[in-house]
Amino acid sequence: MSSIRSFYEKGHTVFSCEIYPPKKDEELSDINSKLEAIGALKPDFISVTYGAGGSNAGKAVDIASYAKKSCSLEVLSHITSVGFNRNKLEDGLKAFEEAGIENVLALRGDRPKNMTDEQYAMRDFIHASDMAEFITKNHPGFTVAGACYPEKHFEAESEAFDADMLKVKADAGISFFISQLFFDNDLFYALEERMKERDISAPVSAGIMPVTSAKMLGTTVSLSGTSIPKELSDIIARFGDNAEDMKKAGIDYAVRQAADLISHGVDGIHLYIMNKPKLAEEIFNAIRVS
Ligand code: FAD
Repeated sequence: MSSIRSFYEKGHTVFSCEIYPPKKDEELSDINSKLEAIGALKPDFISVTYGAGGSNAGKAVDIASYAKKSCSLEVLSHITSVGFNRNKLEDGLKAFEEAGIENVLALRGDRPKNMTDEQYAMRDFIHASDMAEFITKNHPGFTVAGACYPEKHFEAESEAFDADMLKVKADAGISFFISQLFFDNDLFYALEERMKERDISAPVSAGIMPVTSAKMLGTTVSLSGTSIPKELSDIIARFGDNAEDMKKAGIDYAVRQAADLISHGVDGIHLYIMNKPKLAEEIFNAIRVS
């Protein structure tokens, strides 16, 4: 049994990174070599994303399985509940079980544009906490993690309400959290404080994304609703037109962010590396000694 929860009890910062199944089939052939490169970096675990509605479930299982069996990586497999009834969730979990996966990140997901009203209405789990409770009760072999949001989830009416819902998640069996990406550490420290006030003792890994091109702000970052501090927007204004300098400055910002979090005793650092092992290597090399 390899419960990722136990990694947080070893007295060191837990390092991890996220991988997503490529959309194009031709990129799939590259993914195994990327996993091997990440395996050589020996993070504590990787997480593998899952399409809302299970759109890429097969690829997600294959990637998780290869990472675990051929690269000696511990894996946290994401699973989403939007559009899933109990049977569909059971099928998804069974596929992970068969691939040797013991840790899942229970997410609600967002309704995909192409999901019909009928598919959406068949869901048995309204919130991630409903799915977490179901998994912990019926599949106790899985360790269940959940998502949290330093700037609150976009649907939540307030930070306080969103934090109350994290307590519901923790009570439903979520044993550690991974945060949405953020660029201002004070927002993360404030979230930690709100969680402490609610007696949530589950560890939290901080989500860090190196911004290596100006274009990323228009896509991934703006989709996540993350605010951009002046220091980072100044970096983009200064280096945005020069790919190499922008990459260096973006990595440097992420390294400084992570080093500050580590000096504040953060439980874990989860890197959003956009399937680029080299980014993980540069950042891990810098923060593991800082
Ligand atoms: P929930 O925890 O259900 O929260 C959604 C909203 O409902 C929040 O506003 C919350 O305050 C509220 N809420 C929660 N519980 C309750 C309750 N019991 N009663 C009332 N209100 C409640 N999406 C994917 O499709 N695939 C992925 O692989 C994926 N990976 C992710 C990884 C991380 C680390 C993060 C932060 C997000 C990821 N997402 C992924 C996106 C995620 O699915 C969306 O952000 C989604 O909108 C919310 O998912 P959730 O699990 O946080 O939902």
